[in-house]
Amino acid sequence: MKARRPLIAGNWKMNGFAVAGTHLAGALVGRAAEDPDIAADIVVCPPATLLAPVGEMLRGTIIALGGQDCHPEPSGAHTGDIAAEMLADLACDFVIVGHSERRADHGETDAVVRSKAEAAARAGLIAIICVGETEAQRDSGEALEVVRAQVRRSVPDGATAESVVLAYEPVWAIGTGKVAQPSDVAEMHAAIRQEMRGLIPDADALRILYGGSVKPDNAAQLLALEDVDGALVGGASLKADDFWAIAKTCG
Ligand code: PEP
Repeated sequence: MKARRPLIAGNWKMNGFAVAGTHLAGALVGRAAEDPDIAADIVVCPPATLLAPVGEMLRGTIIALGGQDCHPEPSGAHTGDIAAEMLADLACDFVIVGHSERRADHGETDAVVRSKAEAAARAGLIAIICVGETEAQRDSGEALEVVRAQVRRSVPDGATAESVVLAYEPVWAIGTGKVAQPSDVAEMHAAIRQEMRGLIPDADALRILYGGSVKPDNAAQLLALEDVDGALVGGASLKADDFWAIAKTCG
């Protein structure tokens, strides 16, 4: 058994109206009640509109709540944005920062991602910092250096294995059904841990998640890899059975 407790994170993205979202949360609460000793930490990150009702349903269960993004500032004139402190106020424990869809849709640079991770730490949230190469970068042999640079630039000073989680998500594998080769995932996760050894004092305790078309039928192979400490799950997190089956591969 690995020393690091796995983390299985569900990213609902911009999915879930009130009825469907609370139905999904209810199904997860049911699975959690049947499986209180599951060998993984579990967090779901619903859209902002559902944080309050889903958080209410998760209260007292083994499932934690997370946001999908936060603003670097604690308050102010930032229409449409959500402060890390507001997520904490709704009993979130986690926030995803630097997801490739935010980097692409909103032009978020590593510096912005870093400032969001700093905001998360200020608010007492664990930042799930996402990194990953594009298909062109992998094809041209740059993947390792691109991701190592993203890690160096996105992780804030003073971070520890308790305050951050890294998520390696090859952009070309997100929502496409294409899964990275286990050997490539193993190589990348080892490289990320190596990079983190220069940045935080306790890199051996850091959780590094894999994300990109994780499903019940490929999770066991990916999660068994030495430096893979859990998964960030998009599409499959919208089906309670599939999400729970992925978490159950941890034991
Ligand atoms: C994600 O949104 O972070 C993700 C990995 O999505 P999917 O599992 O659908 O590829």
